Amino acid sequence: MANYIIQISDDALMEMSIAALEAYVVPQRQANKSGERLKKEVETYGLLWGHGVTLPDGDILYSVQKLTVDAMAYRRTDSVLPSEGLKVIKDMITSYWPQYSFLGDFHSHPYEHYNDVERIRGYEFSEVDRKSMIDEQNDPDFRVSLVMTISSLERISNIQPENISDSIICWTFNNYRFWLNACIVYKGDEDDEIALLPNSSHWKNKYDYPDDVDNVYLHCPYLSHPWQTTKFGKKAGIGKHIAGDI
Ligand SMILES: [Zn+2]
Repeated sequence: MANYIIQISDDALMEMSIAALEAYVVPQRQANKSGERLKKEVETYGLLWGHGVTLPDGDILYSVQKLTVDAMAYRRTDSVLPSEGLKVIKDMITSYWPQYSFLGDFHSHPYEHYNDVERIRGYEFSEVDRKSMIDEQNDPDFRVSLVMTISSLERISNIQPENISDSIICWTFNNYRFWLNACIVYKGDEDDEIALLPNSSHWKNKYDYPDDVDNVYLHCPYLSHPWQTTKFGKKAGIGKHIAGDI
């Protein structure tokens, strides 16, 4: 039996938090029939890079070192469509930064209010998310998917980061609340059925839990000791951020 551990580097956590925040508060121009409009609180998408390592005790570690944001993704409030150009990114990194392996993908879930996330467990992978992970089964390198959910609180909060489960962490920066949820795309041997792990008790479709997998853990060292040097701003209404001490 082995555990899967997904460890997020400080750099990767920073890149993900900024990507999710940017798509949450910075208005984006989108074309529609009547011209152009500004969209806020949209999803974002990116690729994960790092290393997969088998530890001495047999556990599998996926160390997520970097995120590359898909700047050309089609971003909407309740979905994000990756661009067709991701092959270029993979080609470049494989050619010039071969120390990083492709691990999987990242996207965000924006919610206006914290209560909505709690009520509908908005930090879970949606059925569409899970289907797209299953569709990646032909790519043997796709092993990890992360979803970062962002919402706002009425009041500033200083609560400590907490684990919702072994693979979901929640924390707060001022009045922005974040959740990071990790999923393993398990392929096993050739004859094995693909499985998404861990099985959430809230998913309609369950996957056969492989005999050789114990549990999935998400580990974010930065969140053990978040470090704030100046006053961070806050969200104030849709698409508005009031800066702190910058
Ligand atoms: Zn999603």
